[in-house]
Amino acid sequence: MSSVQIRDVRKSFGGFEVLHGVTIPIEDGEFVVLVGPSGCGKSTLLRMLAGLENITAGTISIGERVVNNVQPKERDIAMVFQNYALYPHMTVADNMGFSLKLRGARPEDIKRGVARAAEILALTPLLDRYPRQLSGGQRQRVAMGRAIVRDPQVFLFDEPLSNLDAKLRVAMRTEIKELHQRLKTTTVYVTHDQIEAMTMADKIVVMHDGIVEQMGSPLDLYDKPDNQFVAGFIGSPA
Ligand code: ADP
Ligand code: MG
Repeated sequence: MSSVQIRDVRKSFGGFEVLHGVTIPIEDGEFVVLVGPSGCGKSTLLRMLAGLENITAGTISIGERVVNNVQPKERDIAMVFQNYALYPHMTVADNMGFSLKLRGARPEDIKRGVARAAEILALTPLLDRYPRQLSGGQRQRVAMGRAIVRDPQVFLFDEPLSNLDAKLRVAMRTEIKELHQRLKTTTVYVTHDQIEAMTMADKIVVMHDGIVEQMGSPLDLYDKPDNQFVAGFIGSPA
């Protein structure tokens, strides 16, 4: 686990600025949800945390370490994407162990790490299957298994549930929260679904057009929205 500090971070693509100075303090073990409409810069910010995009200005620290110039592989971070691309030709066990293998772990350590992650996610009976033999929810659990197998300091989720049907989405929401309660890994979770944000977050960060409109606990934002945008986004009529 680790705290994460995002300080006055800007991002431009070809001279066009899409993040205009974003500051988000994240505590050790906190579950932070970034919400906001499509195009507001959520994925870009997450990719910068993962080291997949460079930072135009500002700093990102993980723990005590400024990571602006640290390669993705050297950051102790695991990311779960929306289109959780599993390797189709690998078993569940090999999918989950792959990131350890890439990092040169010994076969017995890979086996132990995979067994632990499989146990946490109830995937033990499925370890020898291939992705095509799994349901959508099981595939999503394997994608999470791939992330937790390394026991990273930080988890990043980018709309991990948006390809699932409504019923599965609710079930996975609970599963991800339980996982967090068990592991207490610092988590940054992106969604454009306000129900997901309200039910999962310790802290919600509302973004809009490349800035942070407001951040606070779900209750704070619901009770005391700073402006019309936040009120509209959080408390939109059912
Ligand atoms: P969100 O995840 O909130 O929907 P994104 O972070 O994907 O938003 O995108 C924020 C803005 O940055 C959008 O205007 C998008 O078109 C732009 N953008 C994202 N990635 C690139 C890129 N690689 N090149 C140019 N523009 C990009
Ligand atoms: Mg996105």
